[in-house]
This record gives sequence, C-alpha cells and structure tokens, in this order.
Amino acid sequence: MSTIAQNLQRVKADLPDGVTLVAISKFHPIEALREAYDAGQRIFGESHVQELQRKVAEMPNDVEWHFIGHLQTNKVKYIAPYVAMIHAVDTEHLLREIDKQAARCGRVIDVLLELHIAEEETKYGFSPEACREFIAGGAWRELSHVRIRGLMMMASFTDDTEQIRQEMLLARHLFDELKRDYFADEPYFDERSWGMSHDYPIAVETGATLVRVGTTIFGERQY
Ligand SMILES: *Cc1c(COP(=O)(O)O)cnc(C)c1O
Repeated sequence: MSTIAQNLQRVKADLPDGVTLVAISKFHPIEALREAYDAGQRIFGESHVQELQRKVAEMPNDVEWHFIGHLQTNKVKYIAPYVAMIHAVDTEHLLREIDKQAARCGRVIDVLLELHIAEEETKYGFSPEACREFIAGGAWRELSHVRIRGLMMMASFTDDTEQIRQEMLLARHLFDELKRDYFADEPYFDERSWGMSHDYPIAVETGATLVRVGTTIFGERQY
C-alpha cells in the first residue's frame, strides 16, 4: 500500500461516523491526488483557483472539489460551474457574487460562513457577532442560488490544546445558536468545518462534521 493510502487509512480510523474527510491537496502534485483517489478518496480541498482548475482537468470527474481558501470575488466565475462547496465565505459581497455566478450556471452552491475566532490578525472571516448579525439580518434568504450549510473556522496555530478546544467550542456554540434561531426547519444547515492535521482530533471532540486534513495525508507541502 502506498504511503498516502496508509496515511488516509490512519486518519479515517480516527473519524467517527458523521465526520467527513476533506483531503487538502493544495501544492501537492497530481500523482499524490491520484494515489489518494485510488485509495478511495473522493473529496479534495484546494485553496488556489488556478491550481484547482488545472487539477480538475486532470482528475476523474467523480471527484467532489471543495474550495477552502480565501476566494476573491473576481475568481468565483471560474469555479462556479463545478465546485461542490465553498468553505470560507467571509463577506456578504462574496456570498452575493457566488449567488450570481451560481445562477448563471443554473446551480445552487453549498457554502459555509467563515468565522474569525483565532488570535492571528491575518485570518479572514466574520467575527461571531458579525456572523450572528448577518444571519439575523436575513438578506441571505433572497439568495436562491447559494445554500448556507454551516460554519467554518481555523483555530489558532498553537500547541495549547485547551485554547484550540475553546475556540472550536465557541464556533460550535454559535452554530447551535444559529441552528436553533434561524435554521431549525432547514435540515441542510448541518455542517461544521474545522480541524486540520495538528488539531483534527480536537475538532472531532467538539463536533466537527468536516475535517480538512492535508499534511498528515500528503506530507509537507513544497511551495
Ligand atoms: C492548508 C489548509 C488546511 C490543511 O492544513 P494541514 O495542516 O496541512 O492539514 C486546512 N484548512 C485550510 C483552510 C487550509 O488552508
């Protein structure tokens, strides 16, 4: 069995039913994706539009592609025809552009709202208050070509597992609150995307439904 197949098997063994693995293949060559594909992996996450475009053309067409990085509005049109989920919607402006481009393709695109909870300055996303306000405002209800499936976040990059746990729990509690107050009748609002190579076990404990794991499967990225 290839190293990638073994790594995949190890990560999957850590995931209970109801937690889906998104294999984060950014910066890895197509051969690495093929190995994962041959081992049964079908959901891949990428964070750069051009790289995604190239890989889509080279991989079998039953792959489900998730866009996990920061997405510029002017690039939405390139991925709208096929992307299965956009994880990191960080502004209303971006959400509206996704809606517009999805309408052009005759699609409804699944998205997650990105929360900014980590202490790092550079991370994008809605603060928990801004996210709550945005959902409470209700303008998103008119956008019939996007479906808000849930929330996404990245915890702080730290060895302090308690801090990571607290940040993930904050996201979890906001999800539960939004579910109760605005999506109680919408079964599709059911996804919580957090957890990467170094913290996915904590993500599982705190109720993630999608974990985004790259390095543990594919090794270090070659930039
Ligand atoms: C790169 C990336 C990951 C995967 O990180 P690893 O540490 O390699 O598992 C997960 N989520 C996002 C948003 C990323 O950009």
